[in-house]
Amino acid sequence: MATVSFRNVNKVYPDGFHAVHDLNLEVKEGEFLVLVGPSGCGKSTTLRMLAGLEEISSGEIAIEDRVVNAIEPGDRDIAMVFQNYALYPHMSVRENLAFGLKMRRTPKQEIAERTAEVASTLGIESLLDRRPRELSGGQRQRVALGRAIVRQPKVFLFDEPLSNLDAKLRVQMRAEIASLHHRLKTTMVYVTHDQVEAMTLGERIVIMNHGRIQQAAAPLELYRRP
Ligand code: ADP
Ligand code: ADP
Repeated sequence: MATVSFRNVNKVYPDGFHAVHDLNLEVKEGEFLVLVGPSGCGKSTTLRMLAGLEEISSGEIAIEDRVVNAIEPGDRDIAMVFQNYALYPHMSVRENLAFGLKMRRTPKQEIAERTAEVASTLGIESLLDRRPRELSGGQRQRVALGRAIVRQPKVFLFDEPLSNLDAKLRVQMRAEIASLHHRLKTTMVYVTHDQVEAMTLGERIVIMNHGRIQQAAAPLELYRRP
């Protein structure tokens, strides 16, 4: 069973630019799928359509057999981690983690428990009362990850989440994301222009070019091909 299906999906921006062409793709339940390709090839547009942050020009996107074209981002049961963290600057780490649950009227006790659990998983307990500006880049990205995890979504989306980090942190966070997938076994779609990142993280890699899928295969298969 596929968790996410793209069926003949197109994106034409208002200025007429055709960014995604007839995309057909199925992401399997629990799969870690990486979308890789050069800057401007349509990866982010694809992810943003799935997240509901960008309108679909034609075609259909389904999450667990439910067509989501017209479903509000907040009701799609997905969580997205961005390159620029997108934390709320005026809120503490604790409030940042709790905000999405609060909006959904999750009981206070449950919010406290889930927030504490996620903070412990990510080793950010000591940062809970700080504001985002008092954190390093790596810590911010950990909080952004925590904010996604705490929602317990059906699908995680990552849009170049490690691009702003230095090389050492990038390797460390890559390992954390891999271990997160290993533990949660949630479907993940990860966008990057970095081929090494794609090869180390992806169970399946989809290579995009000029808004189209060029190739889709397991990392080892891609490696073997000329
Ligand atoms: P990637 O994530 O692979 O770098 P994007 O999905 O961000 O690529 O962009 C795909 C193409 O669509 C690029 O050529 C980009 O310039 C274009 N594009 C992105 N956003 C817009 C927009 N709002 N209006 C017009 N063109 C856009
Ligand atoms: P909520 O967490 O209840 O969606 P937010 O204020 O955090 O509320 O989000 C505002 C909007 O941005 C919502 O429509 C939500 O879907 C979207 N959004 C916020 N954070 C994320 C995220 N991590 N992943 C996906 N969408 C998000």
